[in-house]
Amino acid sequence: MKIVNRTPTNLVVQMSGPIGETTALFTLPMAGLKDIVLDMNEVTFINSIGIKHWILWTVKIPHDCVVRMLNCPFVIGTQASIVVGFAKPNMKVETLKVPYICNACGTEHLYLAKMDKDYFYAVGSKAAEILLPESIPCPKCKEAMEQDFIVEKTFKFLTPSSPT
Ligand SMILES: [Zn+2]
Repeated sequence: MKIVNRTPTNLVVQMSGPIGETTALFTLPMAGLKDIVLDMNEVTFINSIGIKHWILWTVKIPHDCVVRMLNCPFVIGTQASIVVGFAKPNMKVETLKVPYICNACGTEHLYLAKMDKDYFYAVGSKAAEILLPESIPCPKCKEAMEQDFIVEKTFKFLTPSSPT
C-alpha cells in the first residue's frame, strides 16, 4: 500500500496485493477526511478475513466522507454485490475491470467499465442502469468477444439493498 496524497480532508491510496487482516488501510486515521480515493489496480484478491476487516473499516469512515474506488479487480465488484455492508452508500465503485472472452481464439480481456458511462448507480427512485457493450472486438483476432460474467449479478452493487 502506498499513500499517494494526504491532506487534512483528502486521502489517496494505492492498494496492492491481497486484502487481509494486516492491510495497512484499516489502521489509517480517518478523522476529518471528506474524500478517500482507493486505487485498487494492484489488488490481487480478498479472503473472508479481509472482507470482515473491510466491513469493520467501512463503519469507521466519517459519515460525510465519500470513498471512490478506482480500477477495481472483478472480485471487488463481486464482493460489493454479494456482501451486505461491503460498500456503504457513500462508497462508489468508479471503475471496474470486467472479463470478456473470445470464443474464436480463446483470448481473455479485461474491459475497464466506468461509472456514469457504462453503468449508473440507482439514485432515489431512479433505477440503476447498465450500458456495457454486449461485445468488444478481440485484440488478437478481431472477432467479437462476449461478456464472461453475469451482468445483473456483477452489478448488483448499483442498487444498495439496505439504505441507511
Ligand atoms: Zn479472438
